[in-house]
Amino acid sequence: MWSQAASALSQLWLSPRCPLCDRSPARPFCDSCWRQIQSCQTLTGPTRDAHALQVLSWGWYQRPLKGAIAALKYDGHRAIADPLGRALGDWWQQRPIPTRRPPWVVPIPLHGEKQRQRGFNQAALIAAAFCRQTGLLLQAQGLRRQRPTQPQFGLGMAERQQNLADAFVLGDWSRPQRQRPILLLDDIYTTGTTAQAAAAVLRRAGWSVCGMVTVARAQSDQTP
Ligand SMILES: [Zn+2]
Repeated sequence: MWSQAASALSQLWLSPRCPLCDRSPARPFCDSCWRQIQSCQTLTGPTRDAHALQVLSWGWYQRPLKGAIAALKYDGHRAIADPLGRALGDWWQQRPIPTRRPPWVVPIPLHGEKQRQRGFNQAALIAAAFCRQTGLLLQAQGLRRQRPTQPQFGLGMAERQQNLADAFVLGDWSRPQRQRPILLLDDIYTTGTTAQAAAAVLRRAGWSVCGMVTVARAQSDQTP
């Protein structure tokens, strides 16, 4: 009796807890939080941003999706990248950005120092799950961030552009195939400054950039 209770207790203790509400079981979210995250979906297909780049986002950057992304980035819950990347991939399969050939997927990189501190690049983890879902090819090292940048939070548009100027360089491409377009991938789309800076580097190197996919999109008056 006691051993049964102890075993049940230890299973409860050891079973993964939902990073948003601490309930279990969680895979990686509990059913209730996952349902609430899904209610953040934009249900909007690709749209052109102010810089004429096509952007497809899965959800609005609002609670609880916002909390899920924070738990991935700042609390180290890497498993969160999988359902978010798959959900984005599923949305891409329904409403893709039209391209003549299947694109390479290039995640927005972190600066090396920041990646060492965090232990991973959340965009690369999301991109891996996105590619598992869609079958698109991942070029995880397609871009490199050559210098640290300040968080974009609280910066005006001109300061954002200045902050990211020359931040990105071409990464390691073993067999560059420039006939394929590039699809950028990031966790959050805010003003498009990051996408522009990354796309400019690839375009200068001869690639066409068909657009960007993100898990979340900030409303225009929101700066994460
Ligand atoms: Zn939960």
